[in-house]
Amino acid sequence: MIKFLDLQKITASYHSEIQDAVNRVVSSGWYLLGNEVKTFEEQYAAYCGSSHCIAVANGLDALSLILRAYKEMGVLQDGDEVIVPANTYIASLLAVTVNHLKPVLAEPEMITYNLDVKEVEKLITPRTRAVMVVHLYGQCGYSNELRELCRKRGLKLIEDNAQAQGAFYHTKRTGNLGDAAGTSFYPGKNLGALGDAGAVTTNDAILAETVRTLANYGSKVKYINEYAGQNSRLDEIQAAVLKVKLAYLDSDNAKRRQIAHRYLTGIHNPRIVLPAVQTEEGHVWHLFVIRTAERERLQQFLQEKGIQTLIHYPVPPHKQAAYSERNEEEYLLTEQLHREVLSLPISPVLTLTEADTIIEAINEFR
Ligand SMILES: *Cc1c(COP(=O)(O)O)cnc(C)c1O
Repeated sequence: MIKFLDLQKITASYHSEIQDAVNRVVSSGWYLLGNEVKTFEEQYAAYCGSSHCIAVANGLDALSLILRAYKEMGVLQDGDEVIVPANTYIASLLAVTVNHLKPVLAEPEMITYNLDVKEVEKLITPRTRAVMVVHLYGQCGYSNELRELCRKRGLKLIEDNAQAQGAFYHTKRTGNLGDAAGTSFYPGKNLGALGDAGAVTTNDAILAETVRTLANYGSKVKYINEYAGQNSRLDEIQAAVLKVKLAYLDSDNAKRRQIAHRYLTGIHNPRIVLPAVQTEEGHVWHLFVIRTAERERLQQFLQEKGIQTLIHYPVPPHKQAAYSERNEEEYLLTEQLHREVLSLPISPVLTLTEADTIIEAINEFR
């Protein structure tokens, strides 16, 4: 059986370093807002090339705290519109709606499945204040054209970098491309904790301070509350684990690239559309997503050969009961993607032999 993602094997590859890091925190007696979080924030900011990093409890909080901070700063107001990809994980939208802002959904560009700048431009109204770019499946969705459009129209550009830690746009990393970025260190992400974790990165000092304050009960000085904030802190144990894994992120991403390259050169089947790569360094292969009109049959076929696959994602946000008021809206490209996509196993611990088994099976599919 080839698992879709073998987290046990991934963790085992760092076992002794993780054990040491956890033991260090356990015996320190200091579990929150301490040196592990502080040094992780410094290291992750340096990795992205950003001036500030605020570690928070998870990726959804990271994104929603950015928008909340913009509201506290007077940049955003209730009812303002934020353009978000229609084909994303629901967290991107939840961050918008939880802040009483309106997600305006953009159809993807069908080569990379990322934001289509022309589509974004069409959706801009006098109420638009921000664009959220999601680097879907690990491929950078940012472009100079998008930046220029946002600059011209006075829009904040927010990155959802949950799936693309380590990817580049030219010489700059994702997480340092827009005005602010939210990321997730959910265990299955390219940089994954052993539990929930997330972070905001930005070069805006005021935004950084506002996010940090909001995430800690709206308080800078203990027992003095400036905002009706929330509790979204990263704990010391997760920060210590993330420091261990951050040191290997580039080499782990290189292993993902090697698997992706194997798939891209080995899979030859007219029924299957392979993912397109814009630039090598712009893709960190969080997921390797193929498309086929016969998705259910292919998934079943691979399952019978002991190959586990997943679907990212089976139902788009606008068709979810959570957004029932939008269920009648139509986003045809997005809906097509949700019918056709299938994610193959890819991770730093998947072997090339396993990849070859998967390639052979897919090439046999008729
Ligand atoms: C995982 C993910 C999130 C949310 O992260 P959590 O840590 O699970 O809250 C947000 N956006 C995208 C695109 C994701 O893949």
